[in-house]
Amino acid sequence: MPTPILQVEDVHKSYGRGQSRFEALKGVSFDIREGESIAIVGKSGSGKSTLMHVLALLDGPDSGRIALEGADTAGLRGARLNRIRNTTFGFVFQQFFLTGNESVLENVVLPLKIAGVSGRERKRRGMAALEQLDLADKAKNKALNLSGGQKQRAVIARALVNNPRIIFADEPTGNLDTVTGAVVEDILFSLNREHGITLIVVTHDEDLAARCDRRIVIRDGLIVDGSTNVEAAA
Ligand code: ADP
Ligand code: MG
Repeated sequence: MPTPILQVEDVHKSYGRGQSRFEALKGVSFDIREGESIAIVGKSGSGKSTLMHVLALLDGPDSGRIALEGADTAGLRGARLNRIRNTTFGFVFQQFFLTGNESVLENVVLPLKIAGVSGRERKRRGMAALEQLDLADKAKNKALNLSGGQKQRAVIARALVNNPRIIFADEPTGNLDTVTGAVVEDILFSLNREHGITLIVVTHDEDLAARCDRRIVIRDGLIVDGSTNVEAAA
């Protein structure tokens, strides 16, 4: 059995302090294998986004351990942490919106800019990602002029441009109509199936969750179902 791409061991995470302290994660443990597609489901406020942020190394746990490819991530800081995040992960998060006044291409190549990739190479890879998402003709448009579905496709192009191993998506179809949501969903699953990119998606959408290999159900900061992969355990 190969090393899981992510291992989560007894992770706790609280917000605030004193009287207003709130424990959003109360000890969660599970493994994710490379190439899996995982849905994280649960009611609003159950801790899904907190778990995503911790998995994506955007926020550290208070206690417990997150290992990426078998290596503990606790000691990762600053430039090294940024580099690992930037080269290994792609993000489809509502809060990482596009910058409206910049062109679609500028938005998409941002992770490459951060990584110090040259202008010419940025353009080549950015256009390739936009072509995959059928948005090449919008490259020079301002991001604010895109439709909702086009914006979400541009966000996926940006998540792809670094050739990530894992894509994290938090409610990727939440603000889209059914038809556009289905298009975005198909794109995410084709990246998972055809390119072997591990897909971790928070969703309220039952159909989207059902398409994933595995569903992790979280309630009040605890996993109540799906912590072990049934096939892997068999
Ligand atoms: P979900 O994504 O499942 O809706 P979250 O992970 O966003 O849930 O939040 C889990 C709990 O932690 C909620 O009760 C929420 O109010 C609380 N919470 C989240 N972020 C913060 C924060 N920055 N400060 C205080 N409480 C927070
Ligand atoms: Mg959330």
